[in-house]
Amino acid sequence: MDCPVCKNAMITLELEDVEIDYCTDCGGIWLDAGELELLLNAPDKAKGLLDSFRIDSESDEKIRKCPICDKKMQKIVVGSSKPVLLLDKCRRGDGLWFDKGELQDIFDRAKLDKDDKIQKLLSDMFGYNQV
Ligand SMILES: [Zn+2]
Ligand SMILES: [Zn+2]
Repeated sequence: MDCPVCKNAMITLELEDVEIDYCTDCGGIWLDAGELELLLNAPDKAKGLLDSFRIDSESDEKIRKCPICDKKMQKIVVGSSKPVLLLDKCRRGDGLWFDKGELQDIFDRAKLDKDDKIQKLLSDMFGYNQV
């Protein structure tokens, strides 16, 4: 699968039995549909977060194409706190694209435990700053 941002081949990593696609060039991450829920591993928290997703039609961020179906993705705003977090979502529902740091941001917003193991894994694997 190619990175929707820099078009380089992504590598597949395993994070808590969930396969994620990671671009070593830009640090972006692709999650197939349902994988975010698996990673959040807390149905109530995941639901609250996913319910907060809404389509942003005013963003001037560059439109990206889905690495699976090659169709233009939608901009999705997550939550209401500023600065807003903007994700790219396939209209067919293939999955979600996270720019560098955005996946970590999602976990911050889901208010998981500070020492949540996914948070730790993310910082170990991608060198994100520990919160
Ligand atoms: Zn990339
Ligand atoms: Zn797609």
